[in-house]
Amino acid sequence: MRALVLKSIVQVGVRDRIQSDGCGTSAVAHMLNPHFRPRVYAVCVSLAGSKDMPMKMTKREFLKGTGAVVAGSMMAKLSPAEQHAAPRENWAGNITYSTDNLQMPAKLDEVRTMVKKATKLRALGSRHSFNTIADSKVEQISLAALHDIVINEKASTVTVDGGVTYGLLSPTIDAKGFALHNLASLPHISVAGAIATATHGSGLQNGNLATPVSALEIVTANGEVVHLSREKDGDAFLGAVVGLGALGVVTRVTLNMLPTYEVAQSVYLNLSFNELEHNLEAIFGAGYSVSLFTDWQKHQATQVWIKRKLDPNQPNVWEPEFHGATMAMEKMHPITGHPAESCTDQMGIPGPWYDRLPHFRIGFTPSSGRELQTEYLVPREHAYEAILAVEKLRDQITPLLFVTELRTVAADDLWMSTAYQRPTLAIHFTWKPMWPEVKALLPQIESALEPFAFRPHWGKLFTLAPATLQSRYTKLAAFKEMVAKYDPTGKFRNEFLEQNLYSS
Ligand SMILES: Cc1cc2nc3c(=O)[nH]c(=O)nc-3n(C[C@H](O)[C@H](O)[C@H](O)COP(=O)(O)OP(=O)(O)OC[C@H]3O[C@@H](n4cnc5c(N)ncnc54)[C@H](O)[C@@H]3O)c2cc1C
Repeated sequence: MRALVLKSIVQVGVRDRIQSDGCGTSAVAHMLNPHFRPRVYAVCVSLAGSKDMPMKMTKREFLKGTGAVVAGSMMAKLSPAEQHAAPRENWAGNITYSTDNLQMPAKLDEVRTMVKKATKLRALGSRHSFNTIADSKVEQISLAALHDIVINEKASTVTVDGGVTYGLLSPTIDAKGFALHNLASLPHISVAGAIATATHGSGLQNGNLATPVSALEIVTANGEVVHLSREKDGDAFLGAVVGLGALGVVTRVTLNMLPTYEVAQSVYLNLSFNELEHNLEAIFGAGYSVSLFTDWQKHQATQVWIKRKLDPNQPNVWEPEFHGATMAMEKMHPITGHPAESCTDQMGIPGPWYDRLPHFRIGFTPSSGRELQTEYLVPREHAYEAILAVEKLRDQITPLLFVTELRTVAADDLWMSTAYQRPTLAIHFTWKPMWPEVKALLPQIESALEPFAFRPHWGKLFTLAPATLQSRYTKLAAFKEMVAKYDPTGKFRNEFLEQNLYSS
């Protein structure tokens, strides 16, 4: 079996830059800083397992690479002491991490040593979660310097290091003739971080981004390396994939791939919610991936984004009308009025899967920038009623809202997945950065959705009582047993897990 290690010149660039001037423009910044514009990279091939690129990055250099929004330009003007003191924030800037103690291993062995030594530790991905799920008061570990991509063409799988983002992975596998089944609205997030929270895109038949995982490598609390695969490990695997960072540090993820494909997307404007009452499946099934956007006013979706997988033998034809909605004749941003430059191409223009399935292009700031996000996942059989229940709160919601997105997710068998054993409708809110007002409103939305036993997105903001949240996961007790096995002393337990999984 021939395995190839693909290393990009972005990766080489990281090392060169760090050695030469310590600037943060790198794949690390690419992963952690939404404003980073990646260079086009060529792929060179070497034999599997050649982790021959020692990378040392101090915390100061990491802070420079990861600084939120303005930090990149300001850092150069600060003294080392000031840089050290710079706050470390998540992507949205609504969370300041509670520790300045960040480990940045360059090799698997270093991960093992760091994990073994730590008393309390949380893995940090690309910082795109909106709540404190990745936070630690004691120590965090980032695998941003580990980003090998190993393609197994024969098995149609790809194994990625814990620091690899979809932005780095997607063009790399596409160049070899492969694709992933789906992507989130943005490619900037890490694979390990996305699967940990059951991050999803849309599509009636598309499971979330954790569903193509076929194997995991995890460094557990005592520094041991555990390998789990769907094929060999049954329940243990199903419990570990959406792991919430609770089982250990995921150092490698193996994903099933598809043959590469092209996608075209078009946007339709103003689809009445009345159409959803009887045609919800047809509307969400009108493409490979379909998203509805709304501001909750006028009983309508302001935009319908339809992404179709193209069949080379079929014409790429789009009707001017869709269930009474009309095709947009210019490129749209989901948030009406925002410039659409950051969005992937629309108006039926074909393109590679990875440049159409996300709404936002890799080199641009996704979404609005400074914002908050909440998402509730309900059984699809109650989709229309759930939409109507939220709509009743429209006059409280709209003033705080940038936009809502409605998506579908296929059922899966991953214990802690928000789509565990149920076909799902995901009701998402991109909020203005007004946390006190949003926080006051969330219980009302949650109460409206209570009859549908919603599950909140693990990486977004919610106020649901822990006991209720826990009751939504029938496999929680088994999951906790697994956590106790791999992490008997609670090394990976932070306040988020303590509160949401362990308190009542
Ligand atoms: C602009 C924007 C758009 C978004 N769009 C979508 C979307 O379309 N669909 C959707 O579902 N979500 C979306 N999200 C949410 C986001 O995808 C999730 O919060 C995701 O988990 C973020 O991944 P991350 O790499 O940033 O991880 P982080 O936020 O840094 O961490 C998330 C969790 O993963 C764990 N983790 C990270 N790396 C590892 C590792 N190596 N080993 C073990 N655990 C690890 C952390 O401990 C933590 O528990 C969006 C977020 C933003 C900011």
